[in-house]
Amino acid sequence: MPNGDIMKRSPQTQKLEDFLHSSKLVAGGFLGTDTRPLAEIIDADLSTLEQLGYTTGQIADRLAEISDKAKEGLGTRVKISDALEAVTQENRGVLVCPWPHEGHTTKTVTTLYHLPSGDSIQWADMCIHLIREHGFFQGHGSVFRIDPEKLVKIIFS
Ligand SMILES: [Zn+2]
Repeated sequence: MPNGDIMKRSPQTQKLEDFLHSSKLVAGGFLGTDTRPLAEIIDADLSTLEQLGYTTGQIADRLAEISDKAKEGLGTRVKISDALEAVTQENRGVLVCPWPHEGHTTKTVTTLYHLPSGDSIQWADMCIHLIREHGFFQGHGSVFRIDPEKLVKIIFS
């Protein structure tokens, strides 16, 4: 592993990393307690995903599909498959993507329950955008960090 301190980072990347660490976006920031450089976080998750045989597009599509179905429940649990139920919580306002472009989403949060295991995972609409557009699953310790391996295991059940 290359040492983050000696890796060359452009001022823009540094600025983005600082911003992703900031709690102005979500409590604790998108990077949580992760001290790895952003590029390293993204590379590690993308290679995990590749080993599992999925693309970020497929993951984002499935998350969006589940969120869309769950939204029809207007706050009550909706059946997604025999193994899955999901519920959304609508929150006022929008989340702005930390990357330098015009991306923003609602603050809706989806909770997905995997009935056989009792496990659940949660994501905000912004997480779908971050995965699809930036290959970013967030840093370790971030509130909305979703481990790609756990994600794949659950969302296609
Ligand atoms: Zn974006």
